[in-house]
Amino acid sequence: MHEWALAEALISAVIKISEKEGLRKISEVGVGIGELQDIDLEIFKFALMQLRPDHLKDAEFEFRMVETKLKCRVCGHEWSPRKDELDEGVREAIHFIPELTHAYLRCPRCGSVDFDVINGRGVWLEYVRGKRY
Ligand SMILES: [Zn+2]
Repeated sequence: MHEWALAEALISAVIKISEKEGLRKISEVGVGIGELQDIDLEIFKFALMQLRPDHLKDAEFEFRMVETKLKCRVCGHEWSPRKDELDEGVREAIHFIPELTHAYLRCPRCGSVDFDVINGRGVWLEYVRGKRY
């Protein structure tokens, strides 16, 4: 059920921004989703529809999947692992125990297993558009 918690967090972020910018009616909300984020998009969308307040009723939600990006700590090389390298076991490992990922993936340039995940996790707000009147 973590889709509902993510949806709640996203809605409250939208509300905060709309209050700060004085937007009375929201028309578009952009949402970024890391491809490693374990999320059921249908449940997430449903939760957003259920939780949104009145001034968000006509808002269009746009979802953008963001691909994984890794950065080698040894040589600084940045790369995106191929889809077939990211099978379910690897995705789970990256999500829950990042250290375990190093057993599956290594830097294609120098072979190091010491790297950071700089993209691909989480759900975040990319933009909020609306009207002030
Ligand atoms: Zn490297």
